[in-house]
Amino acid sequence: MAKQKIGFIGLGAMGNHMAKNLIKAGYNLTVHDLNPQPVKELVSSGAKEAKSCAEAAEGVEVVITMLPADDEVKTVCLGPGGVLEGAKPGTVLIDMSSIAPHTSKQVAAEAQKKRVKFLDAPVSGGTVGAEKATLTIMVGGDKALLDEHMEILQVMGKTIYHVGDVGMGETVKMVNQMLVGINLAGIVEALVMGTKLGVAPEVLYKIIRASSGNSFMLDSRVPNFIFTGNFTQPGFAVDLLRKDLGLALESAKVSKVPLFMTAQAYQYFTRATAEGLGKKDMSVVIELLEKTVGVQVRKKVE
Ligand code: NAD
Repeated sequence: MAKQKIGFIGLGAMGNHMAKNLIKAGYNLTVHDLNPQPVKELVSSGAKEAKSCAEAAEGVEVVITMLPADDEVKTVCLGPGGVLEGAKPGTVLIDMSSIAPHTSKQVAAEAQKKRVKFLDAPVSGGTVGAEKATLTIMVGGDKALLDEHMEILQVMGKTIYHVGDVGMGETVKMVNQMLVGINLAGIVEALVMGTKLGVAPEVLYKIIRASSGNSFMLDSRVPNFIFTGNFTQPGFAVDLLRKDLGLALESAKVSKVPLFMTAQAYQYFTRATAEGLGKKDMSVVIELLEKTVGVQVRKKVE
């Protein structure tokens, strides 16, 4: 079967790599983003530029969106000049952004009115996973539809799970993000505490990695971000994590689940946003505690 034509909207920290991997795998891509820079880059790698979301959806079989949050997904898919204006019946819309499950259901319902099919397929694995095509992808929607489009997802991710109906992929992602926030807040407190008590940060890291306090988050944030003090490289923005934790708290309100730790983590990252750090990698929260107690968790440059 010939490879499907794909419209790709949202070429940020994640989408940029994911789109590049699709081009490398031989897919014919039409791309769109509000920011002209990544569009230019993708075009030089072989993609075609679309001037609007509707144009990105015209004449393609599949549209992939990788956008910051619910509002952007609604604007891009449902708004004037959006995907549903350009997509022909039978097109498949795969939203890979992390958003509220109820928003996925809303977009899917609107799409259905135009006979456009929908899958929610949020990802985990960070920008490194996006670049190396090792993302974990959790998918909600029709299983047969997922199976038909598995090859496309396999170009971007290593582990792909079908979770259930539309919105269930986002539900699992939201739960995962609770652990990202809680875990990172814990790592920050532990490393600042150990450093304040006189242990060298690299000794703390080495021993925790080999002990029961180890985690994926420790490896993904300590060497590249915390030890270098460079929180501006492409990562996962404070504002995005705050958004994800907020989604969990909203959902908990409706489902009446008490989420003590998530609420604490939400405040942690809200403080960082309030201090003007929202666009930096989420591990930047360590700077606030470092300033409070007068230490820095940095690796000594040999
Ligand atoms: P990002 O902010 O870097 O990229 C989003 C892109 O969408 C930007 O290029 C922006 O210009 C574009 N955009 C916004 N509104 C638009 C519109 N109306 N029309 C066209 N383009 C528009 O975000 P990201 O880090 O790539 O994350 C994307 C999604 O993936 C988010 O939901 C995030 O929570 C999730 N996610 C991110 C990571 C990560 O490590 N960065 C990991 C897993 C999941």
